[in-house]
Order: sequence, then structure tokens, then C-alpha cells
Amino acid sequence: MDFGISEKMQIITRMIDEFVRKELIPLEPVVLTRGFRACIPELEKKRRLVRQMELWAPNHPVEYGGMGLNLKEHALVSECLGRSILGHYVFGCQAPDAGNIEILHLFGTPEQKEQWLRPLVAGQFRSCFSMTEVEMPGSNPVMMDATAVKDGGDYVINGQKWCTSSSDGARVAIVMAITNPDAPVHQRASMIIVPTDTPGFNPVRNIPVMGEAGEDYFGHGEILYQNCRAPQSNLLGPEGGAFAIAQERLGPGRIHHCMRWIGICNRCFDLMCQRAVTRPIAPGKTLSHKQIIQAWIAECAADILAARLMVLYAADRIDAVGAKSARAEISMIKYVVANTMMKVIDRALQVHGGLGMTDDTIIAWLYRHERASRIYDGADEVHKMAVAKQILQKYARNPVK
Ligand SMILES: Cc1cc2nc3c(=O)[nH]c(=O)nc-3n(C[C@H](O)[C@H](O)[C@H](O)COP(=O)(O)OP(=O)(O)OC[C@H]3O[C@@H](n4cnc5c(N)ncnc54)[C@H](O)[C@@H]3O)c2cc1C
Repeated sequence: MDFGISEKMQIITRMIDEFVRKELIPLEPVVLTRGFRACIPELEKKRRLVRQMELWAPNHPVEYGGMGLNLKEHALVSECLGRSILGHYVFGCQAPDAGNIEILHLFGTPEQKEQWLRPLVAGQFRSCFSMTEVEMPGSNPVMMDATAVKDGGDYVINGQKWCTSSSDGARVAIVMAITNPDAPVHQRASMIIVPTDTPGFNPVRNIPVMGEAGEDYFGHGEILYQNCRAPQSNLLGPEGGAFAIAQERLGPGRIHHCMRWIGICNRCFDLMCQRAVTRPIAPGKTLSHKQIIQAWIAECAADILAARLMVLYAADRIDAVGAKSARAEISMIKYVVANTMMKVIDRALQVHGGLGMTDDTIIAWLYRHERASRIYDGADEVHKMAVAKQILQKYARNPVK
């Protein structure tokens, strides 16, 4: 595997690093104090600068206004952007829009692409993805209660969804619901595009997460679909195809997430080291003189490097053999990188002492919000089980002598 970075990517990542440092990191405390919605005009100004620099929507197709970077190239971008909690949003490649854009591009009809994909890539509005339900296990989503029943030319959707990230303020949702209850389990659900101003799309609340209700892009919504009608032309992909499409959404999406998490690791690591060399702990001594702190720093440096190389390797495997054949590598990075990130955030917080618990640095916010990384897009346990199954199958087939 080639770890070299092309000249083009060196230039792009340098430009992004500088922009994140100068324009976004100073804006974070403002957004966190005043709230996301109040800062949208300021964030739009930054987005205009990104467009002027021709760095808008790095991972999205060129024909829809993106830069068309491949997976490994976008992984490097995602790492740079992950340093700021505003990075992906300001560069137009934020979740959950990025995944929705991907599946609209792969499975959308020409009309759906014009109506939804093009403006989403342009950042004219936002979208959300509504799969997880209150009463059913998200880890086993074939157990789904929401239904979409044909009536005239429409689907009539009923169900209670939650953890629908960024639904507050989104113009459109991609909803998963059962359309074919008698089909084999993995062919029962479909994806349907539902504008959020449709009667029957009823937001219940922004769910408080670790003490914060959040709002707008930073919110996680609970939504009651009550006789919510969407035209049958809003079906995305084939009827009964939701699980197959969801798999398409999750493979490359995990590379993006994991590299964003590496960016978070880098940010926290910098903060930790900077604090260690400046915080006096005894006359003439800073925290950096203490061996236990040195050990944490050495461990974190190695853990981050190992996690980063694993993600780049997984991206390389996806490019070489496709996401399906790289399933194990994709699952492995999901739990390895999420846990590495949580360890690095925790160590950085600890080194900051009381300051680490306050919102005077970004660390406490990351500690609260990124804990979900071990749960969404497949909980640790689910990925570990999948990896172990694949490994053990080989031993069952070909006993080691
Ligand atoms: C911040 C956040 C954002 C989210 N955003 C979205 C979104 O935008 N759209 C959306 O649809 N959903 C979203 N989700 C939901 C997320 O995908 C689900 O929480 C996740 O799939 C787990 O489902 P669950 O919460 O129902 O947990 P459950 O399925 O009830 O599982 C609970 C726990 O059981 C354990 N477990 C599960 N299966 C197994 C197993 N086979 N073996 C051993 N242990 C197991 C795991 O530890 C797991 O954490 C989000 C969640 C969070 C926290």
C-alpha cells in the first residue's frame, strides 16, 4: 500500500488545515455559546469563502458541483476537517447529508436528483435520515415497526422514529419503513423521500443528548410519522431495497467518520501536549516532566498512528476489492477508531484537570458528543461479532493442523 500523498492532496490539505485553524476553531466558542441557529449567517460567510477557494463538497460528484475526490483523498480531507466541530459542515460534506447524497446519486431517479440531490450538494438546504425507532432495536433494524402503505398514488407512512440527527431545520428526510411485510426479512423495508413540511411529519422534540437538547444541525430529533403521505415517485431505489441501499451508505461513510475521528484525536492530542508543557505542577516543573503524563502521550501518539493507518488501509481495500469484500476491515476500524478517540479525549481531559470538565476548552463537548461514536452506525459489539464470525468461519472451513 502506498502511503505517499499526491502533490494535489498536499496542497488541498495544507489549505484546509490553515482555514480550519484561522477561520473555524475561533468560531467554535461563539457557536457553542450562542447556538447553531443564531450563527448560521456567520457560517454561511465561511461557506462562501470555501466555495471561493474551490474546496466545496470535496467528496461529492463533480457533475453536481463537488470536487469529486476519491475515498482515500476524502479520507485525508476528513481528517483535516475533523479538527473542528464545524469543519465538515462549513465544507459541505457533513453527515447525514453526505450519506443521503451518496444514495441519491447511486439510486435516485433523474427527477429526484434534480429536486433533491443537486440542491443538497449545493448546500441550499439540509436533509436527515430516519431509520432508528424508539421501540425497536436499531442494532437489528429488520425489526421495524414503521409502515408505508400504498394508497392511490401515495405511500402513507406511520411510525415513531428517533435519533434522527439534524432533522431540526432539515428540508427533507429519507425514511425507512416496511412496504413489503410478506417478503424475506431483508427485503421488507423501502426508503422513501419525505419533505419535512409534509402534513403528518410531526417533530416531537430535539432529544437531549448528554445534557444538551441541541438545535438545528446539532440536534437529534424524535419524529412521529402520522398518516404522512409521500407520492410513490418518492421511492428511492427499488421497493424492498432499503437494507441493500443502507449497506451502500454505511461502507464509505465509516471511512469518512473514522478519519473525522482521527482529526478529533489530533486536536485533543495537540491540546494535551500543549497543556502538559505549559501547566506548572511544581516549582520549575510542568506536567510534561511527569512520567505518567509522558506515558499517556506516547501511548496516544502510537494509538492514533495505528488507528490512522488502519483507516487508510480499509479505504485502500474498498478501492481495491469493493466495500462488500472489505467488510471486516470496515467493521474493525469502526470499533478501533471510536475507542481510540474516546481514550485520547479522556486523557486530554484528564491532563487539563478541572479545566477539562469545563466548556472553556472544546474537550468536554467532544467527550459528551463523541461517546455516541461507539453506538451509531453499528455498536462496537455488533461490529466485533461480525468480524469474529468471518474469522471463525475460515477456521471452521479449513481446520488448522
Ligand atoms: C448521537 C446519535 C445519532 C444518531 N443518528 C441517527 C440518525 O441520524 N438516523 C438514524 O436512523 N439513527 C441514528 N442513531 C441511532 C443509532 O443508529 C442507534 O442508536 C444504533 O443503531 C443502536 O440502536 P439502539 O439505540 O436501538 O440500540 P439497541 O439495538 O437496543 O442496542 C443496545 C446495545 O446492545 C448491545 N448490542 C446490540 N446488538 C448486540 C449483539 N448482537 N450482541 C451483543 N450486544 C449487542 C450494544 O452494546 C448496543 O449499544 C443515532 C444515535 C445516536 C446516539
